[in-house]
Amino acid sequence: PKKVEVNVNNFLQKELNSFEEETYQHNIKVNLLNIDNKEIIYHFDSQLIHQCVNNIIKNAIEAMKYVDNSELIVDFQLKDQLVIHITNNGSMIPEDELKHIFVPFFTTKNTGNGIGLALCKQITRVHKGSLKVESSLKETIFTIKF
Ligand code: ADP
Ligand code: MG
Repeated sequence: PKKVEVNVNNFLQKELNSFEEETYQHNIKVNLLNIDNKEIIYHFDSQLIHQCVNNIIKNAIEAMKYVDNSELIVDFQLKDQLVIHITNNGSMIPEDELKHIFVPFFTTKNTGNGIGLALCKQITRVHKGSLKVESSLKETIFTIKF
């Protein structure tokens, strides 16, 4: 990866801003939560991590299109690594699907390509990090660490 210095607060705010139209259209509430309330400067390949965060947010919005009181939450915190949670409510991922969502070309969408999450997993790997998912009736949480 080609690492550069990034202001994480600004970076994530921009990621969310780029979906302003969609979230407005579908009446999705958007929240960016800085857990420790301090500015985080971190080094990573901003183009690769952008691809990853962008796809997970896109998936989250697609999953909430027909959900009432939909909410997208992005929270972040610097621990041993940078931890970013991307949470959406509604539309639980069934257990038998959870096993497959990171497999290249797995998609449940008519016009999906199933590339996004597989790529995202690779991107976190080349940053010596991880990508995990938890899904319940209440919410689906993707955790990016690197
Ligand atoms: P695509 O978006 O092209 O289908 P992805 O690799 O991004 O490919 O996602 C793979 C599959 O994982 C999706 O088709 C969908 O079934 C599931 N998925 C991913 N994110 C979510 C989410 N937030 N809620 C529900 N299902 C999801
Ligand atoms: Mg996708």
